[in-house]
Amino acid sequence: MYKEERTNDTIAAVATPPGTGGVAIVRVSGPEAEAVLNRSFRRGGGASGPWESHRLSFGKILRGQEIVDEGMAVLMRAPKSYTREDVAELYCHGGTAVTRMVLEAVLLAGARPAAPGEFTRRAFENGRIDLAQAEAVMRLVGAQGEAQARAARRQLEGAVSHGIVEVRQKLTEMLSQIAACTDFPDEIDEAPAAANLIAQGRALCAQLRAACDPSRARVLETGLDVVLVGRPNVGKSSLLNALLGEERAIVTADAGTTRDAVRGTLEIAGVRVNLTDTAGIRQTGSEAERIGVQRAKEAAERADLVLAVLDASRPLEADDEEILRQARQVRCVVVLNKCDLPRAQGMPQGMAVSARTGEGTDALRALLEETARSAQSGSALLTQARHIDAAQRAAGALEEMVAAIEKGVPLDFAAVDATAALRALGEITGEDAEQSVIDAVFAHFCVGK
Ligand code: GDP
Repeated sequence: MYKEERTNDTIAAVATPPGTGGVAIVRVSGPEAEAVLNRSFRRGGGASGPWESHRLSFGKILRGQEIVDEGMAVLMRAPKSYTREDVAELYCHGGTAVTRMVLEAVLLAGARPAAPGEFTRRAFENGRIDLAQAEAVMRLVGAQGEAQARAARRQLEGAVSHGIVEVRQKLTEMLSQIAACTDFPDEIDEAPAAANLIAQGRALCAQLRAACDPSRARVLETGLDVVLVGRPNVGKSSLLNALLGEERAIVTADAGTTRDAVRGTLEIAGVRVNLTDTAGIRQTGSEAERIGVQRAKEAAERADLVLAVLDASRPLEADDEEILRQARQVRCVVVLNKCDLPRAQGMPQGMAVSARTGEGTDALRALLEETARSAQSGSALLTQARHIDAAQRAAGALEEMVAAIEKGVPLDFAAVDATAALRALGEITGEDAEQSVIDAVFAHFCVGK
């Protein structure tokens, strides 16, 4: 963990956004936080003496001798605070001038202005969070939608960090196996040890590559895309509605009415599932239908899962065959709808459901759940460019290690590659990050965070 030149002066900044608001917060962190508070805040009711930690007090805010506002203040004693230092917060009226005066009050009382991201940087330097978690703070602050916010929160909770720490532990074990082989060549048989290292190297490499998989990252960010394809009138819209449990798509008995894509969203196993019902895939002369068919093909190409819907009560048509042929090229499940009606001859294998009676829709839901779960399981999932870059370099180093061992290169050379992989991963959590990398991460922060 990065710990050199730990600063321990007392810093202060406005934590709320610039402009006018109901309340503004001025934050102070460092060993002098309580002293700064005592000089800039007069508690009501004549209270004095040491502050009780984590308890809000009402009082007057003083810039020197001048009362600039009245408000609340709290002291959060180390280590139970954002930075793991003593932290004081003053809540004042949220006007631009007032807020500036309150900031001046704490600066006059002994704090110095904080640099961008300095509070979070202290949380990192004091070991409360690692570098990936510090980045998550920024992502959470900047998140535009719920999915992004959720992904950032997971990263803040340590989802990325834990995965990386786990892989680093395995790499450290591999390095000690290599060291054992090279230190005690007479006692350890190198051939099985080498085979073992190759297997472990390959497994870790696959794990890292999977963690960088953009489609898995996208599932977490925006949800699992499930597309229903099929000829007009096989019951796609009805099935979509049955899954959503509401009348989302328009259902009619005329072939080719669902010309545009109809969408609906479900949340299954904590993952957002975006269902899209496309216009029927059919060779057609109608312009609107042709566009719809084109969209269906495109949507199916991008989908995480395609449900190829057939009308099980009617014999397969050429269009059905074409749909099945196309669907086989992607991740696809064949759904035999209208199983409440007598089944036609020559149906392929598939999941029998009835959008009308609801039969089989539970099984279909279970399938979606399984897909959603498998999309988020496995190792840490990386979504930030800096992390993906480091993990790819680590995977590359492991590939070189495996290739070198396979060529029969002495094992101590393999240690060089394994160490490179270990270092690359250490950049993600900050355990092995250059000062410049750390500086770059915090450079994107705003003042007060
Ligand atoms: P789409 O064109 O594939 O979206 O098909 P629709 O959902 O519009 O359904 C076409 C027709 O089939 C409608 O008349 C539905 O009521 C009927 N339908 C849909 N699902 C079923 C089902 O499971 N059983 C039966 N008997 N009819 C169904």
